[in-house]
Amino acid sequence: MDTAHKESILVVEDEKKIADIVRAYLEREGYLVQVASTGEQALGLMKERFVLVILDLMLPDMQGEDICRTIRENSDTPIIMLTAKSAEEDRIKGLGIGADDYVVKPFSPRELVARVKALLRRTGKTKKKVFSFNSGGLTINESDHETLLRGKHVVLTPTEFRILLSFSENPGRIFSRDQLATIAQGFDFEGYDRTIDAHVKNLRHKIEKDSKDPEFIKTVYGIGYKFIGTPDED
Ligand code: CA
Repeated sequence: MDTAHKESILVVEDEKKIADIVRAYLEREGYLVQVASTGEQALGLMKERFVLVILDLMLPDMQGEDICRTIRENSDTPIIMLTAKSAEEDRIKGLGIGADDYVVKPFSPRELVARVKALLRRTGKTKKKVFSFNSGGLTINESDHETLLRGKHVVLTPTEFRILLSFSENPGRIFSRDQLATIAQGFDFEGYDRTIDAHVKNLRHKIEKDSKDPEFIKTVYGIGYKFIGTPDED
């Protein structure tokens, strides 16, 4: 299977033994897994695209609740909390901090996998696969990797498509160059990439009538780019 099409899950867990077991079970089910052992690491990794986050509540540097809230500020990625004791269970229930589900330790890895699948089924239903902007002026079909500009097929490189898809999923959101570099390079991101401006330039060349007066990708000076297409009603 092409790894670019595998669904990626972030596991935030400082206990290596647990992280390893969870990783093994999820990988066996065909998911790509990234492990973060601190909150800081987890938030850094959130620039990438994960279909789901498994988040331990007790981490060495940050409270799981704070990480959950921070993730929720910019993302609706489903979150399953791992909690160690029933007191924490109560805290989660009471706080409404944005986790979609929680599992109490010690847990069976099989149960966790079942919860992951159930949550992805639940949230996947509402996930859009076709994005349409400016009264059908631009359509992006995620499943077919197809882009249409005023009804005409546009040939995009895989990188350009990934960038455009992320824009489409988040109209109005400002992406930093760093975030776009991570998106552009998929899961193999290592280090900082300044070539993002070149990718955006090429993408604009293909979809904008006038790059100086863009309909879709606006430059946000000193930060990055913002997608300004107007989403069409479903
Ligand atoms: Ca822990």
